[in-house]
Amino acid sequence: MAFLYRLSMQTKDRLIQYGISEAIADKAVKAGLTASKIRQLSLVDLRTKFGLTMPEAKEVKRCIARQPIDGSTLEMLLDRNNHTCCVCKGTKGGGIIVHHIQPYEVGQNNRYQNLAVLCPNDHDRAHTSGGLSMSLTEEQIHKAKTSWEKQVELTNVQVAARAINVVNEAIDYVNVTRIEEMCGSRFGKIPDTTIASYLKSIRILAQNGRFDEAYVRKNLSNGGYLFDYINSSEAEHYRQLLEKLSQHIRFEDLSEAARSGIRRLKSLEGEYAYFIGGVRSKRPKMPITVSSPPIVFTHQTKKVRIRWDGDPNYLQSTSAISRQGRLNNYIVYCLVRTVEKAADKIVDVTASPLLIAQPKKRVDRTPPIHWRNHWDGENNLDEEDD
Ligand SMILES: [Zn+2]
Repeated sequence: MAFLYRLSMQTKDRLIQYGISEAIADKAVKAGLTASKIRQLSLVDLRTKFGLTMPEAKEVKRCIARQPIDGSTLEMLLDRNNHTCCVCKGTKGGGIIVHHIQPYEVGQNNRYQNLAVLCPNDHDRAHTSGGLSMSLTEEQIHKAKTSWEKQVELTNVQVAARAINVVNEAIDYVNVTRIEEMCGSRFGKIPDTTIASYLKSIRILAQNGRFDEAYVRKNLSNGGYLFDYINSSEAEHYRQLLEKLSQHIRFEDLSEAARSGIRRLKSLEGEYAYFIGGVRSKRPKMPITVSSPPIVFTHQTKKVRIRWDGDPNYLQSTSAISRQGRLNNYIVYCLVRTVEKAADKIVDVTASPLLIAQPKKRVDRTPPIHWRNHWDGENNLDEEDD
């Protein structure tokens, strides 16, 4: 059954690649039609044998004569538009049409930049020409698409961040004590993770689930920093604990707040938050000991300076240590402590880091090029780093 469903999904996507509306594609697939059948059958057959109306039959015949949109282009378009109309954002009802902004007949342009996801209602408006207030211009559709794609991207990044969806093998810093305290006050104990029993068996965790720092320092850390031994499962254990906490604690978007100004930042004082962006750090002096000074992570723009003071003993690996002293693209989960405007008018934010890793998803901050400049350009959608 699942297999049949997938087959029909593929046929439907295939029809959508020709610019056939989702509603008609659904009806055609249910009636047993495929692209090649549509091409071979007459309008009369499509109507009498497959139950399409005459306008629907004409529409599918017209579309199927086109070159299909490349499958990966279509997938990216639907993904980046959340399968939703970029003009009304789905508020006018479901069902979509992949629309050629410059009409297909004019330029046969199937490139990403020329395609937009519209609902049937807004699609009608796009095809209403002649300066009617109801009509949608090409420029309006381009603008709507650009801004909707940004909003979808930001939301996807926020959803991933709030679910502690990070690159597991690149967790550089974990404040084990603070995360355990948070678990204690939220759950009354340290919950189990998929790794907890293994970590207990090798005594990194005590039977009550707490990190056994005394045992680790004495027996595992070779007299060096705390995590100076070959075992990388602790980071994932604490990520899972933070994930459990995230179902009860809301992590605010500190990166967005930093762009919005002091009022929004001030509202985050005392709140848990995550920050995604370029973070600099000072390389800790080796060897790291219990009396090493804090390791300072910073993010600075012309308007905002964020500072996280961390314990260098909580760096998770030698590679995490070697990454310090330069700019990294990080996601920093933290507790926001203070937000103050400094004498130089820059807003100073101090926060305690809980977990620092590389984010799975991040907002592409490539400066937007005006759509006319890449109207006919190749897909130029590479992610750009800071
Ligand atoms: Zn719409």
